[in-house]
Amino acid sequence: MSVEEIEEIYNFVGGAFTKSSSNDFLDVHAPASGELIARVNVSNMSDVTTAVLAAQSAQVEWASLTNMKRSKIMFKFRELVERDTDELSALIVQEHGKNFAEARAEVAKGNETVEWACGMPSLMAGRRTEVSKGVVCYDVREPLGVVVSIVPFNFPFMVPMWTVPIALAAGNCVILKPSEKVPLTMNKTAKLMAEAGVPPGVFQIIHGTKDAVNGLCDAPGLRAVTFVGSSLVAELVAKRCRANGKRVLAMGGAKNHLVALEDCDTNGAAKDIVASFAGCAGQRCMAASVLVLVGECKDLMAKVVEHASALQKGQEKGQMGPIIDAASKARILGYINGAVERGAKCLVDGRSWAKDTPGHWVGPTVLFFDSVDDPCLREEIFGPVLSVVRVDTWQKAVDIENSSPFGNAASIYTSVGAHAEWFTPRFAAGMIGVNIGVPVPREPFSFGGHANSVSKFGDFDVTGDGAMEFFTNRRKVTTKWTKIDRPTEGDCTDHANFAGQM
Ligand code: NAD
Repeated sequence: MSVEEIEEIYNFVGGAFTKSSSNDFLDVHAPASGELIARVNVSNMSDVTTAVLAAQSAQVEWASLTNMKRSKIMFKFRELVERDTDELSALIVQEHGKNFAEARAEVAKGNETVEWACGMPSLMAGRRTEVSKGVVCYDVREPLGVVVSIVPFNFPFMVPMWTVPIALAAGNCVILKPSEKVPLTMNKTAKLMAEAGVPPGVFQIIHGTKDAVNGLCDAPGLRAVTFVGSSLVAELVAKRCRANGKRVLAMGGAKNHLVALEDCDTNGAAKDIVASFAGCAGQRCMAASVLVLVGECKDLMAKVVEHASALQKGQEKGQMGPIIDAASKARILGYINGAVERGAKCLVDGRSWAKDTPGHWVGPTVLFFDSVDDPCLREEIFGPVLSVVRVDTWQKAVDIENSSPFGNAASIYTSVGAHAEWFTPRFAAGMIGVNIGVPVPREPFSFGGHANSVSKFGDFDVTGDGAMEFFTNRRKVTTKWTKIDRPTEGDCTDHANFAGQM
């Protein structure tokens, strides 16, 4: 493909795809082939300002629609996503690299949140109670205004859907900043939003990197910012937004622990553990990263090694896709090489795939450690690497999980309910699994690690109930009416007329 034929990706502002004020572009490569597939036009503060103005002029009318009306538009959007699932999935396969089945599952999961947001007429309902004789309090949920969603590369469709449909259906206008590594899926999504009837300015996209993000954190008129990405940037964004008086929720990186007991179902657990650490090439914030065996667990380990070794490279169903880019590949290989140099046993060695070109490949890797101090056991690798340690007591397994600064997810594998119940309250993470390696809570439950960990900065969760709290304010009304015995004649006329029309 010649340079002239490469697609240029522009912002979506005021209902149209618009070139940014800069002439700067970043190349977008297909991770599986390394091929240049698009160039994304990056934005700065002046583009942010243009989008904010467009959103502000759309906000009043969008918020004034009934919940039912906005919900109808979301229903239409949900149908369009279903109609174009294959097209969206193909874009994800191309720009992210995951296999087609994983991409389809991502679209389906994202659309589940859209479906949940379609229930906004019920979700927005307030509470009402008589708080003392003749005095009634009720509350009304109201949208915040113009809000921002900044997202990472690893789920080009699903992670934006954690916030966007809920924020929109609740009456907010949204400015989305996709990852510059995967801008195609969201530009297709913008077309679907417009087709569904989302008015110009209500859903907008600003492309770019640091300048665009800083602009969104700083711009006056933006009420709230959600961020999902690495811990380093999550903390920067959270601090910057707070300094600017914005409500903020910032999800960071993860290091998820699985603990396996001798009494677990080894067939089910082994498949699940491999799917958890190697699915989407380990580029998931919910991926298993550390496996703590309590006792020998020889049978389980043999099966984990067998399943991981059987994984094939590719983008067909059941195969494992590439790593997003060369820098990520180098980081992952650095962790594996370092661990082996420090004495770890490499039970499954994914470095053999790394020689393959074109594209960025690292195969599934299982490392076994004699001590718990290695960086592979403490730091986020964000690739298909499972680091395994063995301990002799339940408490030691919990201590390893508790000592991690990340508080995202943890799981226990056991066939005994009482054993699971010993572990679940003792884990430090915010999302806990029992015999499930990717314990993602579904609506109405919210998604989020524990606050004050490096997996979450801020007090709110995304999706579900947490998103409702984040994207709305509650107006509290206290009323006292003088009681009358019965309406005098004529007082009910309007109501009677209205009732007659129904
Ligand atoms: P990233 O932090 O590099 O990028 C996330 C977003 O921040 C992107 O839109 C990017 O353009 C922007 N950005 C990057 N550097 C920036 C900077 N210096 N200043 C301002 N903005 C900047 O993350 P990523 O590599 O795209 O995604 C992978 C990370 O996301 C992993 O750490 C993963 O664990 C995390 N993640 C967390 C969750 C969660 O729910 N906790 C979910 C998905 C991914």
